[in-house]
Amino acid sequence: MPRNRRNIGECPRCGKASYACSYNHFQSEDLRIDSWEHKCPDCGLRETKAFRSDEDDLAEGLDPEVCPLCGRTP
Ligand SMILES: [Zn+2]
Ligand SMILES: [Zn+2]
Repeated sequence: MPRNRRNIGECPRCGKASYACSYNHFQSEDLRIDSWEHKCPDCGLRETKAFRSDEDDLAEGLDPEVCPLCGRTP
């Protein structure tokens, strides 16, 4: 699985500048999963959001390649 991580600045909980946004993409013949994770290695704060092609997540016109948490693209 390709992995894409970017430091996005200060953690909203502890304020340390190591808060990171990670993007993972999984693709098979009939399933696609795009998942986003924000994580702070210092205090453990973690937020995740995943879009699956077999659920209704993508029916709302969302772009799975834009982070729903911070708006960045891979
Ligand atoms: Zn933190
Ligand atoms: Zn993000």
